[in-house]
Amino acid sequence: MGVRATVGSSAPAVPGETATFELGVENTGDRTEDVGLALAGTAAAWGWITPATLSLAAGERAVARLTFKIPRAPHPPAGPLAVNVRLTTAGGMQDVPATVEVAPFVDVFASLGPRTTPGGRKGRQRLTVENRGNAGIRAGVEGVGEDVSVRVEPDRLELAPGASAEVRVTADAGRPRFRGATVTRPYEVVVRPDGGGRPGRAEGEVEVAPSGWVGRVTLLLLAVAAAGIGLSAFVGSSGDEPRDAVAATTPASDCPARDHLSPDANGTVRDGVRPSFDYSFLFVTKQGCQPVRFNPCQPVRYALNRRLAGDADVADLLAAIGKLAAATGMEFQRVADTDEDPRLVPRPRRQPDGTFAWPPIVIGWAHLGAGDALRGRNDQRASPDVVVGGGGRPEVVSDVIVTGNLILNLDAVTDTDTRTPVPHGFGTGVNWGRIMLHELAHVIGLGHVESRTSIMNEALTQQTLSSSEWGVGDLIGLRQLGRDGGCVTVPPVPGQGAPR
Ligand SMILES: [Zn+2]
Repeated sequence: MGVRATVGSSAPAVPGETATFELGVENTGDRTEDVGLALAGTAAAWGWITPATLSLAAGERAVARLTFKIPRAPHPPAGPLAVNVRLTTAGGMQDVPATVEVAPFVDVFASLGPRTTPGGRKGRQRLTVENRGNAGIRAGVEGVGEDVSVRVEPDRLELAPGASAEVRVTADAGRPRFRGATVTRPYEVVVRPDGGGRPGRAEGEVEVAPSGWVGRVTLLLLAVAAAGIGLSAFVGSSGDEPRDAVAATTPASDCPARDHLSPDANGTVRDGVRPSFDYSFLFVTKQGCQPVRFNPCQPVRYALNRRLAGDADVADLLAAIGKLAAATGMEFQRVADTDEDPRLVPRPRRQPDGTFAWPPIVIGWAHLGAGDALRGRNDQRASPDVVVGGGGRPEVVSDVIVTGNLILNLDAVTDTDTRTPVPHGFGTGVNWGRIMLHELAHVIGLGHVESRTSIMNEALTQQTLSSSEWGVGDLIGLRQLGRDGGCVTVPPVPGQGAPR
Protein backbone atom coordinates (compact mmCIF):
# COMPACT_ATOMS: atom_id res chain seq x y z
CA MET A 1 0.00 0.00 0.00
CA GLY A 2 1.62 3.22 -1.07
CA VAL A 3 -0.03 5.52 1.43
CA ARG A 4 1.53 6.86 4.62
CA ALA A 5 -0.09 8.84 7.38
CA THR A 6 1.36 10.82 10.27
CA VAL A 7 -0.57 12.28 13.17
CA GLY A 8 0.64 15.67 14.35
CA SER A 9 0.85 16.63 17.97
CA SER A 10 -1.69 18.60 19.93
CA ALA A 11 -2.13 20.04 23.37
CA PRO A 12 -3.80 17.57 25.75
CA ALA A 13 -7.45 17.00 24.95
CA VAL A 14 -9.60 18.68 27.61
CA PRO A 15 -12.73 16.62 28.28
CA GLY A 16 -15.80 18.47 27.11
CA GLU A 17 -13.85 20.54 24.62
CA THR A 18 -12.67 19.78 21.12
CA ALA A 19 -9.02 19.02 20.40
CA THR A 20 -7.76 19.00 16.84
CA PHE A 21 -4.75 17.26 15.29
CA GLU A 22 -3.37 17.46 11.83
CA LEU A 23 -3.31 14.20 9.96
CA GLY A 24 -0.77 14.26 7.15
CA VAL A 25 -1.49 11.75 4.38
CA GLU A 26 0.98 11.06 1.60
CA ASN A 27 0.64 8.94 -1.51
CA THR A 28 4.07 7.32 -1.87
CA GLY A 29 2.93 5.12 -4.77
CA ASP A 30 3.00 5.79 -8.47
CA ARG A 31 -0.69 6.08 -9.22
CA THR A 32 -3.64 8.09 -7.91
CA GLU A 33 -5.25 6.73 -4.74
CA ASP A 34 -8.64 7.42 -3.15
CA VAL A 35 -7.93 7.15 0.57
CA GLY A 36 -10.71 6.59 3.10
CA LEU A 37 -9.93 8.03 6.54
CA ALA A 38 -11.65 6.81 9.69
CA LEU A 39 -11.01 6.17 13.36
CA ALA A 40 -10.97 2.59 14.58
CA GLY A 41 -11.11 1.09 18.05
CA THR A 42 -12.70 2.42 21.24
CA ALA A 43 -11.52 5.97 20.69
CA ALA A 44 -13.59 6.08 17.49
CA ALA A 45 -16.59 6.92 19.68
CA TRP A 46 -15.07 10.29 20.61
CA GLY A 47 -13.55 11.56 17.38
CA TRP A 48 -13.88 12.03 13.67
CA ILE A 49 -11.77 12.89 10.65
CA THR A 50 -12.57 15.47 8.00
CA PRO A 51 -12.62 15.00 5.11
CA ALA A 52 -13.50 11.30 5.20
CA THR A 53 -11.75 10.66 1.88
CA LEU A 54 -8.83 12.19 0.04
CA SER A 55 -7.94 11.72 -3.57
CA LEU A 56 -4.16 11.90 -3.89
CA ALA A 57 -2.12 11.86 -7.07
CA ALA A 58 1.14 9.95 -7.09
CA GLY A 59 3.56 11.64 -4.70
CA GLU A 60 0.92 14.07 -3.45
CA ARG A 61 0.54 15.00 0.21
CA ALA A 62 -2.56 16.46 1.90
CA VAL A 63 -3.64 17.29 5.39
CA ALA A 64 -6.84 16.13 7.01
CA ARG A 65 -8.15 17.11 10.42
CA LEU A 66 -8.57 14.72 13.32
CA THR A 67 -10.93 16.10 15.96
CA PHE A 68 -11.65 14.66 19.39
CA LYS A 69 -14.30 15.56 21.87
CA ILE A 70 -13.60 13.51 24.96
CA PRO A 71 -16.62 13.34 27.28
CA ARG A 72 -16.50 14.90 30.74
CA ALA A 73 -16.84 11.53 32.38
CA PRO A 74 -14.70 9.07 34.37
CA HIS A 75 -14.09 7.13 31.16
CA PRO A 76 -11.75 7.45 29.34
CA PRO A 77 -9.35 8.13 32.21
CA ALA A 78 -6.83 10.96 32.17
CA GLY A 79 -3.54 10.10 30.49
CA PRO A 80 -2.58 8.65 27.15
CA LEU A 81 -5.44 7.34 25.04
CA ALA A 82 -4.51 5.02 22.17
CA VAL A 83 -6.26 5.72 18.89
CA ASN A 84 -6.07 4.08 15.50
CA VAL A 85 -6.39 5.95 12.24
CA ARG A 86 -7.62 3.55 9.59
CA LEU A 87 -6.61 4.19 5.99
CA THR A 88 -8.59 2.38 3.31
CA THR A 89 -7.54 2.22 -0.34
CA ALA A 90 -8.44 -0.03 -3.26
CA GLY A 91 -5.40 -2.07 -2.30
CA GLY A 92 -6.38 -2.74 1.32
CA MET A 93 -6.52 -1.37 4.82
CA GLN A 94 -3.89 -0.08 7.22
CA ASP A 95 -4.10 1.15 10.84
CA VAL A 96 -1.83 3.96 12.00
CA PRO A 97 -1.49 4.10 15.80
CA ALA A 98 -1.42 7.44 17.59
CA THR A 99 -1.85 8.76 21.09
CA VAL A 100 -4.10 11.48 22.47
CA GLU A 101 -3.23 12.84 25.89
CA VAL A 102 -6.46 13.25 27.89
CA ALA A 103 -6.22 16.12 30.39
CA PRO A 104 -7.40 15.39 33.94
CA PHE A 105 -10.43 17.16 35.37
CA VAL A 106 -11.91 17.13 38.85
CA ASP A 107 -15.63 16.65 39.40
CA VAL A 108 -16.67 15.65 42.88
CA PHE A 109 -20.33 14.99 43.52
CA ALA A 110 -21.75 14.72 47.02
CA SER A 111 -25.28 14.01 48.16
CA LEU A 112 -26.72 13.73 51.63
CA GLY A 113 -29.61 11.60 52.72
CA PRO A 114 -31.88 12.29 54.40
CA ARG A 115 -31.47 16.00 53.95
CA THR A 116 -33.37 16.97 57.08
CA THR A 117 -32.86 15.36 60.43
CA PRO A 118 -35.83 15.79 62.72
CA GLY A 119 -36.15 17.01 66.16
CA GLY A 120 -33.87 18.12 68.88
CA ARG A 121 -31.21 15.44 68.76
CA LYS A 122 -28.13 14.91 66.80
CA GLY A 123 -28.79 13.73 63.29
CA ARG A 124 -27.04 10.91 61.50
CA GLN A 125 -26.86 11.07 57.78
CA ARG A 126 -25.06 9.33 55.01
CA LEU A 127 -23.05 11.31 52.52
CA THR A 128 -22.42 9.66 49.18
CA VAL A 129 -19.36 10.95 47.41
CA GLU A 130 -18.80 10.17 43.78
CA ASN A 131 -15.68 10.86 41.78
CA ARG A 132 -17.17 11.94 38.48
CA GLY A 133 -13.80 13.15 37.25
CA ASN A 134 -11.38 11.18 35.07
CA ALA A 135 -8.50 10.96 37.52
CA GLY A 136 -8.02 9.43 40.94
CA ILE A 137 -8.49 11.90 43.79
CA ARG A 138 -7.72 12.24 47.45
CA ALA A 139 -10.04 14.58 49.27
CA GLY A 140 -10.77 15.93 52.72
CA VAL A 141 -14.33 15.97 54.04
CA GLU A 142 -15.57 18.61 56.44
CA GLY A 143 -18.81 20.02 57.74
CA VAL A 144 -19.63 23.72 57.91
CA GLY A 145 -22.64 24.83 59.87
CA GLU A 146 -24.20 27.75 61.58
CA ASP A 147 -24.60 26.69 65.21
CA VAL A 148 -24.29 23.10 64.08
CA SER A 149 -21.26 20.96 64.78
CA VAL A 150 -20.76 18.48 61.99
CA ARG A 151 -18.57 15.41 62.36
CA VAL A 152 -17.66 13.20 59.45
CA GLU A 153 -16.22 9.69 59.44
CA PRO A 154 -13.99 9.16 57.57
CA ASP A 155 -12.70 12.67 56.93
CA ARG A 156 -10.34 11.56 54.17
CA LEU A 157 -11.23 9.75 50.96
CA GLU A 158 -9.34 8.23 48.09
CA LEU A 159 -11.40 7.51 45.00
CA ALA A 160 -10.58 6.10 41.59
CA PRO A 161 -12.33 7.71 38.59
CA GLY A 162 -15.99 6.68 38.61
CA ALA A 163 -15.78 5.27 42.14
CA SER A 164 -17.97 6.30 45.05
CA ALA A 165 -17.74 6.08 48.82
CA GLU A 166 -19.94 6.73 51.81
CA VAL A 167 -19.24 9.01 54.74
CA ARG A 168 -21.16 8.98 58.02
CA VAL A 169 -22.23 12.48 58.98
CA THR A 170 -23.28 13.40 62.49
CA ALA A 171 -24.79 16.84 62.94
CA ASP A 172 -25.24 18.18 66.47
CA ALA A 173 -27.34 21.26 67.00
CA GLY A 174 -27.20 23.17 70.22
CA ARG A 175 -29.94 25.06 71.96
CA PRO A 176 -32.33 26.90 69.67
CA ARG A 177 -31.51 30.54 69.45
CA PHE A 178 -35.09 31.64 70.00
CA ARG A 179 -37.13 29.84 72.57
CA GLY A 180 -40.59 28.63 71.89
CA ALA A 181 -40.27 27.60 68.26
CA THR A 182 -38.71 24.75 66.37
CA VAL A 183 -35.90 26.07 64.26
CA THR A 184 -33.98 24.58 61.39
CA ARG A 185 -30.22 24.81 61.38
CA PRO A 186 -28.61 24.40 57.97
CA TYR A 187 -25.17 23.02 57.35
CA GLU A 188 -23.06 21.99 54.45
CA VAL A 189 -20.67 19.10 53.98
CA VAL A 190 -17.78 19.90 51.70
CA VAL A 191 -15.53 17.41 49.95
CA ARG A 192 -12.37 19.26 49.00
CA PRO A 193 -10.00 17.53 46.57
CA ASP A 194 -6.29 17.82 47.42
CA GLY A 195 -4.52 19.98 44.90
CA GLY A 196 -7.55 22.06 44.03
CA GLY A 197 -10.57 21.73 41.85
CA ARG A 198 -14.12 22.62 42.71
CA PRO A 199 -15.23 20.96 45.93
CA GLY A 200 -18.26 18.71 46.06
CA ARG A 201 -20.88 19.81 48.55
CA ALA A 202 -24.20 18.78 49.99
CA GLU A 203 -26.62 20.67 52.18
CA GLY A 204 -28.38 19.30 55.19
CA GLU A 205 -30.34 20.70 58.06
CA VAL A 206 -31.17 19.78 61.63
CA GLU A 207 -34.46 20.65 63.25
CA VAL A 208 -34.13 21.80 66.81
CA ALA A 209 -37.10 21.73 69.16
CA PRO A 210 -37.63 24.47 71.74
CA SER A 211 -35.55 24.00 74.81
CA GLY A 212 -34.91 25.35 78.23
CA TRP A 213 -33.05 23.38 80.87
CA VAL A 214 -33.97 20.08 79.30
CA GLY A 215 -32.25 20.98 76.09
CA ARG A 216 -29.14 22.06 77.89
CA VAL A 217 -28.92 18.81 79.79
CA THR A 218 -29.35 16.87 76.58
CA LEU A 219 -26.65 18.93 75.01
CA LEU A 220 -24.27 18.30 77.86
CA LEU A 221 -24.82 14.56 77.57
CA LEU A 222 -24.16 14.75 73.86
CA ALA A 223 -21.00 16.67 74.47
CA VAL A 224 -19.82 14.05 76.95
CA ALA A 225 -20.68 11.27 74.58
CA ALA A 226 -19.18 12.94 71.58
CA ALA A 227 -15.58 13.56 72.41
CA GLY A 228 -13.23 14.83 75.05
CA ILE A 229 -12.63 17.96 73.10
CA GLY A 230 -16.30 18.81 73.13
CA LEU A 231 -16.47 18.30 76.86
CA SER A 232 -13.48 20.42 77.68
CA ALA A 233 -14.75 23.20 75.47
CA PHE A 234 -18.06 23.06 77.27
CA VAL A 235 -16.47 23.20 80.68
CA GLY A 236 -14.20 25.97 79.54
CA SER A 237 -17.03 28.19 78.44
CA SER A 238 -19.10 30.16 80.90
CA GLY A 239 -22.03 27.84 80.35
CA ASP A 240 -24.12 30.67 79.06
CA GLU A 241 -23.28 29.87 75.45
CA PRO A 242 -23.31 26.11 75.25
CA ARG A 243 -23.37 26.13 71.47
CA ASP A 244 -19.63 26.86 71.65
CA ALA A 245 -19.21 23.38 73.01
CA VAL A 246 -20.20 21.71 69.79
CA ALA A 247 -19.71 24.36 67.17
CA ALA A 248 -16.25 23.32 66.10
CA THR A 249 -16.72 24.73 62.63
CA THR A 250 -18.41 28.01 63.50
CA PRO A 251 -16.21 31.09 63.22
CA ALA A 252 -13.51 31.56 65.83
CA SER A 253 -15.02 34.10 68.19
CA ASP A 254 -11.73 35.88 68.73
CA CYS A 255 -10.84 36.23 65.06
CA PRO A 256 -13.84 35.52 62.86
CA ALA A 257 -12.39 37.17 59.76
CA ARG A 258 -9.20 35.08 59.69
CA ASP A 259 -8.97 33.24 56.36
CA HIS A 260 -12.13 34.98 55.20
CA LEU A 261 -10.77 38.03 53.41
CA SER A 262 -12.26 38.48 49.97
CA PRO A 263 -9.75 38.15 47.12
CA ASP A 264 -11.25 41.27 45.59
CA ALA A 265 -12.99 44.36 46.89
CA ASN A 266 -14.50 47.43 45.25
CA GLY A 267 -12.79 46.61 41.97
CA THR A 268 -9.35 45.88 43.40
CA VAL A 269 -7.92 42.37 43.19
CA ARG A 270 -5.77 41.30 46.13
CA ASP A 271 -2.88 39.24 44.82
CA GLY A 272 -2.17 36.10 46.76
CA VAL A 273 -5.45 36.04 48.69
CA ARG A 274 -7.08 32.66 48.25
CA PRO A 275 -10.84 32.71 47.76
CA SER A 276 -12.94 31.46 50.65
CA PHE A 277 -15.37 28.67 50.06
CA ASP A 278 -18.31 29.64 52.23
CA TYR A 279 -18.15 33.36 53.05
CA SER A 280 -15.75 36.26 52.79
CA PHE A 281 -15.52 39.88 53.87
CA LEU A 282 -14.62 42.71 51.50
CA PHE A 283 -12.61 44.49 54.17
CA VAL A 284 -11.21 43.49 57.53
CA THR A 285 -9.76 45.58 60.33
CA LYS A 286 -6.03 46.14 60.44
CA GLN A 287 -5.47 43.19 62.73
CA GLY A 288 -7.31 41.07 60.18
CA CYS A 289 -9.67 39.59 62.72
CA GLN A 290 -12.89 41.59 62.45
CA PRO A 291 -14.93 42.27 59.34
CA VAL A 292 -15.50 45.91 58.46
CA ARG A 293 -19.22 46.63 58.93
CA PHE A 294 -21.95 49.17 59.27
CA ASN A 295 -22.93 49.89 62.86
CA PRO A 296 -25.78 47.38 63.19
CA CYS A 297 -27.05 49.03 66.35
CA GLN A 298 -28.61 51.93 64.48
CA PRO A 299 -30.81 51.90 61.40
CA VAL A 300 -28.90 51.83 58.11
CA ARG A 301 -30.53 54.46 55.91
CA TYR A 302 -30.95 54.20 52.16
CA ALA A 303 -32.44 56.40 49.47
CA LEU A 304 -33.73 55.33 46.07
CA ASN A 305 -33.13 57.09 42.82
CA ARG A 306 -36.13 55.57 41.09
CA ARG A 307 -36.27 57.84 38.06
CA LEU A 308 -35.78 54.89 35.68
CA ALA A 309 -37.24 52.14 37.84
CA GLY A 310 -40.61 50.50 37.43
CA ASP A 311 -42.82 49.34 40.27
CA ALA A 312 -41.60 45.76 39.86
CA ASP A 313 -37.98 46.89 40.18
CA VAL A 314 -38.71 48.70 43.42
CA ALA A 315 -40.76 45.75 44.71
CA ASP A 316 -37.85 43.35 44.09
CA LEU A 317 -35.45 45.70 45.84
CA LEU A 318 -37.62 46.14 48.91
CA ALA A 319 -38.07 42.37 49.14
CA ALA A 320 -34.30 41.88 48.85
CA ILE A 321 -33.67 44.44 51.59
CA GLY A 322 -36.17 42.54 53.73
CA LYS A 323 -34.16 39.34 53.26
CA LEU A 324 -30.97 41.22 54.12
CA ALA A 325 -32.58 42.57 57.29
CA ALA A 326 -33.75 39.09 58.29
CA ALA A 327 -30.30 37.58 57.77
CA THR A 328 -28.39 40.29 59.61
CA GLY A 329 -30.85 41.41 62.28
CA MET A 330 -30.19 44.94 61.07
CA GLU A 331 -32.77 47.61 60.42
CA PHE A 332 -32.77 49.26 57.01
CA GLN A 333 -34.63 52.54 56.88
CA ARG A 334 -35.82 54.05 53.63
CA VAL A 335 -35.56 57.82 53.50
CA ALA A 336 -36.84 60.26 50.88
CA ASP A 337 -36.03 59.44 47.25
CA THR A 338 -32.96 61.09 45.78
CA ASP A 339 -31.74 62.28 42.41
CA GLU A 340 -28.11 61.50 43.23
CA ASP A 341 -26.13 59.38 40.75
CA PRO A 342 -26.14 55.80 42.07
CA ARG A 343 -22.85 55.11 40.29
CA LEU A 344 -21.03 57.40 42.70
CA VAL A 345 -20.33 57.21 46.38
CA PRO A 346 -22.73 59.70 47.97
CA ARG A 347 -21.21 62.72 49.71
CA PRO A 348 -21.83 63.76 53.31
CA ARG A 349 -25.01 65.74 53.79
CA ARG A 350 -25.50 68.96 55.65
CA GLN A 351 -27.85 68.62 58.58
CA PRO A 352 -30.37 71.27 59.68
CA ASP A 353 -27.99 72.27 62.46
CA GLY A 354 -25.20 72.95 59.96
CA THR A 355 -23.08 69.92 60.74
CA PHE A 356 -22.45 67.15 58.23
CA ALA A 357 -23.59 63.56 58.48
CA TRP A 358 -22.85 60.42 56.52
CA PRO A 359 -25.38 60.14 53.69
CA PRO A 360 -27.81 57.28 53.17
CA ILE A 361 -26.82 54.50 50.78
CA VAL A 362 -27.89 55.57 47.29
CA ILE A 363 -29.57 52.85 45.25
CA GLY A 364 -30.61 53.46 41.68
CA TRP A 365 -31.19 52.07 38.24
CA ALA A 366 -29.51 52.99 34.97
CA HIS A 367 -29.18 51.83 31.39
CA LEU A 368 -25.59 50.64 31.16
CA GLY A 369 -25.85 48.38 28.12
CA ALA A 370 -25.83 44.61 27.95
CA GLY A 371 -22.10 44.46 27.30
CA ASP A 372 -19.29 45.01 29.72
CA ALA A 373 -20.20 48.43 31.01
CA LEU A 374 -19.59 47.35 34.58
CA ARG A 375 -16.48 45.32 34.03
CA GLY A 376 -13.52 46.54 35.93
CA ARG A 377 -15.81 47.62 38.74
CA ASN A 378 -16.38 45.11 41.44
CA ASP A 379 -18.33 42.58 39.55
CA GLN A 380 -18.68 39.98 36.86
CA ARG A 381 -15.34 40.26 35.17
CA ALA A 382 -14.90 36.70 34.21
CA SER A 383 -16.83 34.80 31.62
CA PRO A 384 -18.80 36.18 28.70
CA ASP A 385 -22.09 34.59 29.74
CA VAL A 386 -22.42 36.33 33.06
CA VAL A 387 -25.03 38.88 33.78
CA VAL A 388 -23.71 42.37 34.13
CA GLY A 389 -26.47 43.11 36.54
CA GLY A 390 -25.18 45.70 38.86
CA GLY A 391 -22.51 46.91 41.19
CA GLY A 392 -22.73 47.55 44.89
CA ARG A 393 -19.98 48.84 47.10
CA PRO A 394 -19.45 50.09 50.61
CA GLU A 395 -17.65 53.26 51.61
CA VAL A 396 -15.19 52.54 54.41
CA VAL A 397 -13.89 55.19 56.80
CA SER A 398 -11.73 54.24 59.81
CA ASP A 399 -12.60 50.55 59.49
CA VAL A 400 -16.34 51.24 59.54
CA ILE A 401 -18.75 51.22 56.61
CA VAL A 402 -20.40 54.62 56.67
CA THR A 403 -22.43 54.53 53.45
CA GLY A 404 -22.43 52.93 50.03
CA ASN A 405 -23.97 52.90 46.61
CA LEU A 406 -25.70 50.37 44.41
CA ILE A 407 -26.36 50.63 40.70
CA LEU A 408 -28.70 48.21 38.96
CA ASN A 409 -28.43 47.82 35.20
CA LEU A 410 -31.80 47.84 33.49
CA ASP A 411 -30.16 46.55 30.29
CA ALA A 412 -28.89 43.38 31.95
CA VAL A 413 -29.60 40.12 30.12
CA THR A 414 -29.40 36.56 31.37
CA ASP A 415 -27.85 35.39 28.13
CA THR A 416 -25.79 37.56 25.84
CA ASP A 417 -26.73 35.45 22.80
CA THR A 418 -30.50 35.42 23.21
CA ARG A 419 -30.50 38.78 25.01
CA THR A 420 -33.15 37.57 27.42
CA PRO A 421 -33.97 40.30 29.92
CA VAL A 422 -33.56 39.52 33.60
CA PRO A 423 -36.86 38.33 35.08
CA HIS A 424 -38.28 39.76 38.28
CA GLY A 425 -38.65 37.89 41.54
CA PHE A 426 -36.66 35.36 43.52
CA GLY A 427 -37.27 32.10 41.67
CA THR A 428 -34.97 29.69 39.90
CA GLY A 429 -32.03 30.90 37.87
CA VAL A 430 -30.79 34.42 37.44
CA ASN A 431 -33.35 37.05 38.31
CA TRP A 432 -33.44 40.51 39.83
CA GLY A 433 -33.86 39.05 43.28
CA ARG A 434 -30.58 37.16 42.97
CA ILE A 435 -28.69 40.13 41.58
CA MET A 436 -30.03 42.45 44.27
CA LEU A 437 -29.23 40.08 47.15
CA HIS A 438 -25.68 39.69 45.81
CA GLU A 439 -25.08 43.40 45.37
CA LEU A 440 -26.75 44.42 48.63
CA ALA A 441 -24.53 41.95 50.48
CA HIS A 442 -21.51 43.66 48.86
CA VAL A 443 -22.77 47.03 50.07
CA ILE A 444 -22.74 45.79 53.66
CA GLY A 445 -19.32 44.18 53.28
CA LEU A 446 -19.66 40.61 52.03
CA GLY A 447 -17.29 39.35 49.32
CA HIS A 448 -17.20 36.61 46.74
CA VAL A 449 -16.89 32.88 47.49
CA GLU A 450 -16.29 29.67 45.63
CA SER A 451 -19.37 27.78 46.79
CA ARG A 452 -21.93 27.55 44.04
CA THR A 453 -24.70 27.29 46.63
CA SER A 454 -23.99 30.85 47.67
CA ILE A 455 -25.56 34.07 46.49
CA MET A 456 -22.04 35.46 46.81
CA ASN A 457 -20.61 33.22 44.10
CA GLU A 458 -19.50 35.75 41.53
CA ALA A 459 -20.91 33.93 38.51
CA LEU A 460 -24.63 34.22 39.15
CA THR A 461 -25.41 31.96 36.20
CA GLN A 462 -23.33 29.18 37.76
CA GLN A 463 -25.09 29.17 41.12
CA THR A 464 -26.99 26.02 41.98
CA LEU A 465 -29.29 27.44 44.66
CA SER A 466 -32.75 26.48 43.45
CA SER A 467 -34.25 29.82 44.42
CA SER A 468 -32.78 33.22 45.08
CA GLU A 469 -32.37 32.84 48.82
CA TRP A 470 -29.27 33.06 51.00
CA GLY A 471 -27.09 29.95 51.11
CA VAL A 472 -25.54 28.51 54.26
CA GLY A 473 -22.25 30.36 53.85
CA ASP A 474 -24.01 33.62 53.02
CA LEU A 475 -25.97 33.39 56.26
CA ILE A 476 -22.87 32.79 58.35
CA GLY A 477 -21.16 35.82 56.84
CA LEU A 478 -24.21 38.06 57.07
CA ARG A 479 -24.79 37.21 60.71
CA GLN A 480 -21.28 38.29 61.56
CA LEU A 481 -21.78 41.57 59.70
CA GLY A 482 -25.06 42.14 61.50
CA ARG A 483 -26.28 42.44 65.05
CA ASP A 484 -24.56 39.31 66.27
CA GLY A 485 -21.22 41.01 65.72
CA GLY A 486 -22.07 43.77 68.21
CA CYS A 487 -22.05 47.54 67.78
CA VAL A 488 -19.29 49.58 66.18
CA THR A 489 -18.54 53.28 66.62
CA VAL A 490 -19.22 55.34 63.53
CA PRO A 491 -16.43 57.86 62.90
CA PRO A 492 -17.40 61.52 62.52
CA VAL A 493 -17.51 63.11 59.09
CA PRO A 494 -14.05 64.63 58.63
CA GLY A 495 -13.79 68.39 58.23
CA GLN A 496 -17.08 69.10 59.97
CA GLY A 497 -18.75 72.22 58.70
CA ALA A 498 -16.66 72.51 55.57
CA PRO A 499 -19.01 72.43 52.61
CA ARG A 500 -17.58 71.29 49.32
ZN1 LIG B 1 -20.14 40.43 43.14
